[in-house]
Amino acid sequence: MELRSRAIILRTGNLGEADKLLTLLLPQAGKIKAVARGSRKTKSRFVSLVEPLNLGHFLLKPGKTFYIFIQGELIKSYSGLKRDLEKLAYAQYFCELCEHSLPEGEPAEKIFLLLLAALENLEKDACPARVARCFELNLLEELGLRPALEACSSCGSKEGPFYFDPAGGSLLCTGCPRPHGSFPLSASALAFMRRFLKLGFYKLSVCRLPGRENKEIRQVCSGLFSHALGIDRLKSLDFLQQLAAFSPPK
Ligand SMILES: [Zn+2]
Repeated sequence: MELRSRAIILRTGNLGEADKLLTLLLPQAGKIKAVARGSRKTKSRFVSLVEPLNLGHFLLKPGKTFYIFIQGELIKSYSGLKRDLEKLAYAQYFCELCEHSLPEGEPAEKIFLLLLAALENLEKDACPARVARCFELNLLEELGLRPALEACSSCGSKEGPFYFDPAGGSLLCTGCPRPHGSFPLSASALAFMRRFLKLGFYKLSVCRLPGRENKEIRQVCSGLFSHALGIDRLKSLDFLQQLAAFSPPK
């Protein structure tokens, strides 16, 4: 069946001499791969369209192994992200996270909209880290992996301090036995996580996320992505860490 849909290009790779293999995210069709034939030739009409992070209207038809890109029209290129090395790295991280956490060909409307919202917010927000933590938590929620942050999962106590157990995806109080791999979670990091899950990107720019809490939330999310989905290393994440090592703390 032909697909006519909005899509965002998560990644592109070279195929043969002149083709590109696109990894796309569509609301209804989900994550799919499509070949854009001849798109690396400079005279191709679509040379600037078939770039990562472009949002467009696409016409695709089914092929033997992959969909075939027939034509498309650019909706948005997120040029504000592409001009800023740090933001571009975060945007690539969001796309890579979607690519690795989504099954192929399953409807992903909410995740498609979440990714667009994350890119919009990343473009205008002065603090990419808070956009990233908010995106990670809401992506986990959409994947059915929302961490349980209300009370100790063992005794039900709502009194902190708490530890976070990435294997169980939940909190444990200091009075209950804690499995290997759990780590302390501050009350303030917990409050930020609840806020990000409750309100999403709504008025996110008023949240001043300090470095310590950012690190804690990052540890929670990377623990969940690793335990539940086996996502341990991403190229874009390595690059973000290298960038952080070279830039002064804000
Ligand atoms: Zn407990």
